[in-house]
Amino acid sequence: MRIPWPGQKCIVCLNSGPLTWEHIIPRALGGDLICNFLCKPCNDRFGFGIDAKAKFDPGLRLTANRLQNDIPTVHAAIEGGQRYVVKSGPARATGVWQQGAILGSIERQDDGSLMVPDNLVRRKLREMLAAEGHEETFIAEALEKQARAPVGERVELSDEISIVNWEAHCEGADMSDNRLASDLLFAKIAYEFLALLVGTAIYADAPALISGSARFETAITIARIQCRTPNGW
Ligand SMILES: [Zn+2]
Repeated sequence: MRIPWPGQKCIVCLNSGPLTWEHIIPRALGGDLICNFLCKPCNDRFGFGIDAKAKFDPGLRLTANRLQNDIPTVHAAIEGGQRYVVKSGPARATGVWQQGAILGSIERQDDGSLMVPDNLVRRKLREMLAAEGHEETFIAEALEKQARAPVGERVELSDEISIVNWEAHCEGADMSDNRLASDLLFAKIAYEFLALLVGTAIYADAPALISGSARFETAITIARIQCRTPNGW
């Protein structure tokens, strides 16, 4: 949803200049409310510095998971690219959420073996068998053996290569790399909603308008300092 802005100046740094469309709730969190009240430098700073990282906040991620059935678009926006712990046989690996599925990657285990997810196993085996110099007929038979191998049983495919098929189970979200979102994220969102509410009166003395909250005042002051150009405001 687009809300056209009646003012000519950026609401954060107060510089005049071309204004750009800003996602008030970050796009990374599934937000689609936009208003053209930030200059490009401010929009970029919020975008790369704060908005893009917001989805890695553990609290926001847990909330998105609870909303999975009620607001699937928000869940999809936040979970895209997030990590999960996958248990497969004796090993644990990392999966990444992509469009409704948890996709694994090839990971070398401590014992030197490779853990290869289902969707990559045929390609990887073909590559390894071809590198050993095997002919196509041998490779096709080996792939067939792999496909038929019972779960949990070791099957020799060549002198060098044996495989064990394991069933994989997702054990839940891996939050080890998730970090709290910046306080500025919430100050920014509150400040931008305030701007929508009061219109160009936001230019009067923006921090004073929200002086009821010292936290927001500090945060917006910091936002202004970050947006400062070498030539001043
Ligand atoms: Zn600006």
